[in-house]
Amino acid sequence: MKKDRRDFIKTTSVLGTTAALGSVMFGSEALSQQSGMSPENIKLAELPKLDYPYDALEPYIDAKTLEIHHSKHHNAYVQGLNKALEELAKARFKEDYSIIDYWIKKSSFHGAGHVLHTLYWKSMAPNAGGEPPQKVMDAINKSFGSYKAFKEQFSAAARTVEGSGWALLGKLPDGSLMIYQSEKHENLSPWNAVPILVCDVWEHAYYLKYQNKRADYINSWWNVVNWKFVESNL
Ligand code: MN
Repeated sequence: MKKDRRDFIKTTSVLGTTAALGSVMFGSEALSQQSGMSPENIKLAELPKLDYPYDALEPYIDAKTLEIHHSKHHNAYVQGLNKALEELAKARFKEDYSIIDYWIKKSSFHGAGHVLHTLYWKSMAPNAGGEPPQKVMDAINKSFGSYKAFKEQFSAAARTVEGSGWALLGKLPDGSLMIYQSEKHENLSPWNAVPILVCDVWEHAYYLKYQNKRADYINSWWNVVNWKFVESNL
């Protein structure tokens, strides 16, 4: 097999993983973006339903915060993404790329916001938290040495995001795990990591209940971590 063929397969399999994750969250609008079809026919993103009621994560995440966060904030990212997708489709249709950088930036910001919030709702569950199942524990031990070290590093990453952003656990192509931060939704992304557990540390995620005490929110958040979801992503 020629080298570029091997590289092509490697690249498509990494993208395939991302696309599989993306298809859950996005539908197929990412594909329609590339098809040059008329703006009326593009597939738009939708706000996903939560797997649990708004009060299911009490007392750690209060119902009012969860309701506003999902129905207002996440919905705004879905609408922002759809607007950008429509404008990108119009640009292709009219062959007018004069402000393409603006709409690409918008689609990146809102699209990443949509993806990460969809992961965030899945990253939490009622009657969850505690120590991870053995398969997750093994992966954590292999990458971080111990569960204690992992939890401390992840918490520190979440506490110290500058401004608004996220702490993320990602899976690398070789199966190992890494902890990273993103500012806003998309900055600082290591492009080879697929996020499998995310903690939103924008103030809108905790301010009603925890005000400025981000560290208290993060400590509480561990009580609702959905390890079954993390396991399903390994
Ligand atoms: Mn948020």
